[in-house]
Amino acid sequence: MNLKILLLPGDGIGAEVTRAAVVVLKAVAAKYGHNLHLTEGLLGGIAIHKTGMPFPEETKKLALEADATLMGAVGLPEFDNAPPSQRPEAGLLGIRAVLDVYANLRPVRTYPSLIDSSPLKNHVVAGTDMLIVRELTGGLYYGTPRGIDADGNAARNTMSYTRPQIERVARRAFELALNRRKKVTSVDKSNVLEVSQFWRKIVVEVSADYPDVTLEHMLVDNAAMQMVLKPTQFDVMLTENTFGDILSDVGGILAGSIGMLPSASLGASKGLYEPVHGSAPDIAGQNKANPLGAIGSVAAMLEYSFGLVKEGSAVNDAVGKVLESGRVTADLRPKGAPATTMEVGEAVSKAL
Ligand code: NAD
Repeated sequence: MNLKILLLPGDGIGAEVTRAAVVVLKAVAAKYGHNLHLTEGLLGGIAIHKTGMPFPEETKKLALEADATLMGAVGLPEFDNAPPSQRPEAGLLGIRAVLDVYANLRPVRTYPSLIDSSPLKNHVVAGTDMLIVRELTGGLYYGTPRGIDADGNAARNTMSYTRPQIERVARRAFELALNRRKKVTSVDKSNVLEVSQFWRKIVVEVSADYPDVTLEHMLVDNAAMQMVLKPTQFDVMLTENTFGDILSDVGGILAGSIGMLPSASLGASKGLYEPVHGSAPDIAGQNKANPLGAIGSVAAMLEYSFGLVKEGSAVNDAVGKVLESGRVTADLRPKGAPATTMEVGEAVSKAL
């Protein structure tokens, strides 16, 4: 099969983990006889430096031409005080909008060999296997009006959702639940927000088409607590954009490190794959970032964009073997000397 993939390494550790993930991508393509067509584009801070724009037209064109996009991360501290539209993160919002990827899948699972890496107690995290389905095109991050008043005395963002936006992501969550443990927990803040009341109403309507899936509702503040109290209770967690962004970082603690978490953003046709973490300026340039979230994103890409389920599982199995071997990066608190980003990428590729 021809795999036409756009690489957007981005900033900081984004570029480092993407390099390691590409080693694995090349290994899996070679093993199973697939033809890789890789192109590379600019996104984020590096794109601002080279073109003046966080999401240049050329990148947009490349993304629309590719079957799937593998992204690293964006964000540079030098832009911290820039207006949102001129920050590297605007590139991320831009590409998500252009590809119309509306469902962000963030699997959170614990590997037995990693159980000591989580700061939470073993009996709490053992057996965690949940999938956060975060809506990606609406809510606070895109709603208008937004901005800071010219007189500097007030500011606002708008949380808004339309019926089709909620319906399509809810449908995706129920479909995914059918192949898992058949439970959807919809997370909202319906005791305070009208948008959440609307969200809940529509999720209930969609659930009527999935009688085999159990639906429960949870308020977001309780959900944050339940995730660390009893994470094994969750199967598919469906939630809106901002809540999903925040809750999936809690998922990083369950998995041992945020560096472990992959993600897949799916729309009607294109897929965008990226680790959940950011550009981590505090460890950038040191070859010590954990690349397993990026490598897991490669596995997700193989499965969701190309239907290569066997190849995706092979990558995840290879990750499991490397974790068992203990050759892991510093964030996972290895017993011996920590491995570098590239060493982990090469170890996964060898385990394949
Ligand atoms: P971050 O995820 O970059 O880092 C948070 C903490 O986790 C840091 O201590 C970092 O060292 C650690 N960490 C993250 N990924 C790791 C990995 N793979 N291996 C080991 N440790 C890892 O979040 P932040 O510090 O809040 O944000 C830094 C920048 O990244 C900001 O500019 C932010 O806007 C951006 N950001 C981008 C994305 C994205 O591109 N999808 C996501 C989140 C944050």
